[in-house]
Amino acid sequence: MNKTEYNRTRRAVNIRHEICVACGSAKARPGRTRCDICEIIRANEQRELRAKRKRDGLCLFCGKPVGLSGVLCEFHRRYHRQARQKRRGGRPRRPGPRGVPPMEKRGQDGRFERKAH
Ligand SMILES: [Zn+2]
Ligand SMILES: [Zn+2]
Repeated sequence: MNKTEYNRTRRAVNIRHEICVACGSAKARPGRTRCDICEIIRANEQRELRAKRKRDGLCLFCGKPVGLSGVLCEFHRRYHRQARQKRRGGRPRRPGPRGVPPMEKRGQDGRFERKAH
């Protein structure tokens, strides 16, 4: 087993046993992979890293040069624009095809219910 594999296995074991993956000894927070202390350390590191990237004109997420404007690279700018749109409802502004009833008016199997003549 090489080192990468070992680390990956150890991490998986830690997550399963709710042990912090960073220090490997303290109990992780419920639903998280780190203990309280490591979570705070990491949050601080992230904040510092982001502040530094912002100062240096690099993407806050990946550290690539951002180009002319903003704080995100082209990829992450697009990525976040899409994420924002998804939060808004994920549906395009353009209305769907005419005559399609809304979901709740459809039959249980997802097909349109036609009125018997
Ligand atoms: Zn820890
Ligand atoms: Zn980026």
